[in-house]
Amino acid sequence: MIKKKVSMLGSFAVGKTSLVQQYVRSIFSEKYHTTIGVKIDQKIVIVDHQEVNLMLWDIHGEDDYQKVKPAYVMGSSAYFIVIDGTRRNTIETALELQEMAAKVSEGAPFIVLINKADLKEEWEVTETDIQSLKEKGMTVITTSAKDGFQVEEAFLKLSQQMMK
Ligand code: GDP
Ligand code: MG
Repeated sequence: MIKKKVSMLGSFAVGKTSLVQQYVRSIFSEKYHTTIGVKIDQKIVIVDHQEVNLMLWDIHGEDDYQKVKPAYVMGSSAYFIVIDGTRRNTIETALELQEMAAKVSEGAPFIVLINKADLKEEWEVTETDIQSLKEKGMTVITTSAKDGFQVEEAFLKLSQQMMK
């Protein structure tokens, strides 16, 4: 079976681990675990009648103390850039990480996820912010790792782009 590395990138606590857990096991935990280093989960997805084994690299979140190591991102066939809708400053980190990922993954497709859609009333990220990401040519999908909103769709869409 074809194996593809898909990386989760974004600032710390945006929901990278929760999105993978929701997608792989359909579970959501309110408990906060900081991911140490890298955790790899697998899920088989069917794209155009073909089974693809996604190797989901949940990479430690970027913060002031710990930068995401480009070596972890290398070899990604696709990646997600995750933003926390309730924290506008996670956009900046997302854009920096995207720039780094573009360099090390040679034009691999990516999708920007604005996560925590279930907390919409607390969002700092505005429609204008989303529009300006789209103007950069980025695909943007709103998700909730908590209730599963558009999580499956996002992974399927990225897989389809990756297999083109
Ligand atoms: P990571 O550091 O990017 O892996 O983020 P986590 O997946 O550990 O999530 C950080 C915190 O946000 C945890 O307390 C999660 O329960 C919470 N969280 C993640 N995704 C969502 C979401 O879609 N909605 C809500 N309400 N909370 C979320
Ligand atoms: Mg994590």
